[in-house]
Amino acid sequence: MTQRIAVLPGDGIGPEIVEQAVRVLRALDLDLEFVSAPVGGAAYDLHGHPLPPESLALAKHASAVLFGAVGDWKYDTLERALRPEQAVLGLRRELGLFANLRPAILYPELAKASSLKPEIVAGLDILIVRELTGDIYFGQPRGVRVLEDGPFKGEREGFDTMRYAETEVRRIAHVAFQAAQKRRGQLCSVDKANVLETSQFWRNIVIDVAQEYPEVELSHMYVDNAAMQLVREPKAFDVIVTGNLFGDILSDEAAMLTGSIGMLPSASLNGSNQGLYEPSHGSAPDIAGKNIANPLATILSAAMMLRYSLGAPVQALQVEAAVQQVLADGLRTADLYEAGTTQVSTSEMGDAVLKVLK
Ligand code: NAD
Repeated sequence: MTQRIAVLPGDGIGPEIVEQAVRVLRALDLDLEFVSAPVGGAAYDLHGHPLPPESLALAKHASAVLFGAVGDWKYDTLERALRPEQAVLGLRRELGLFANLRPAILYPELAKASSLKPEIVAGLDILIVRELTGDIYFGQPRGVRVLEDGPFKGEREGFDTMRYAETEVRRIAHVAFQAAQKRRGQLCSVDKANVLETSQFWRNIVIDVAQEYPEVELSHMYVDNAAMQLVREPKAFDVIVTGNLFGDILSDEAAMLTGSIGMLPSASLNGSNQGLYEPSHGSAPDIAGKNIANPLATILSAAMMLRYSLGAPVQALQVEAAVQQVLADGLRTADLYEAGTTQVSTSEMGDAVLKVLK
């Protein structure tokens, strides 16, 4: 059966990098159909909204969404609901994308790009599974109120609500255990159970879900310690699962271990294997339209799509191996160029990956 991919290139370098990922997907022996639609600032310019109903409908009915990036400084003065970023927030909400998967892989060839010592990070391969639709980011009530008692009586206070329902913890735990099953079989659940009720509840549920995955080795770590261990001995981790707030911070920390923003893919999944796949970086308006952006994060996002939404794990490995090969061949886009390597453009990097695949 033909699987439909919604292609949402967005703004800035989005169209250039997405084009290369689509070329790679087309080159595989799979029955895929590609339908494009505008999102972000590009959609605002055309239709007056960053996520027009037609683009949303396309995404909802597709097997997977390939997303470029959205945003440009020229939209900064628009009211919040019309800003380009609302496209990705709206898609997460409307598609129920509760699980964010961000691998942090440092290919040995790029070890020097990291600010850490090569021996600490070379060969790094970890996966952060972040819950994306719950926690303190969405908990109610929230706001500013006047205190009626206590030492600050009569003053205003700002407040938010940290919360997780059992179902929310169970489903993200299942995603993380299943990801660990497909990797080295180690899962570290990160929380702050020594202080937070929500975290203790999270930990209890994760321990319960673990009974269904006896082959996965489960450990727990407080978030402050996890932040330290990620820079001390990052290769000790395989899969990390954590809530929205802690995951937001730790996934950026892990991303920076690799030092190369143009290399990091991501996937956001719902309960029916539908997913949105995008590079972890933004729309890079400073280099847009110059054919110099690194398309590899987007190509690696397409590989994640093959693995998690399209049921094509063999092709996912082929694409990942092709990316590794072009790096081993010394090809680099401008962001990663150093003496002794060969600088290539966005489209030439796409050509090189295709050549290896064929
Ligand atoms: P950015 O990630 O776009 O760029 C940061 C720096 O990294 C820039 O110097 C850029 O040139 C470089 N860079 C990023 N991707 C690259 C690539 N593939 N190849 C080579 N270099 C690359 O972050 P920013 O500058 O803070 O934000 C720019 C715009 O992107 C803003 O409007 C922001 O809101 C938006 N943004 C969107 C997303 C998204 O669509 N999910 C995520 C983050 C930022």
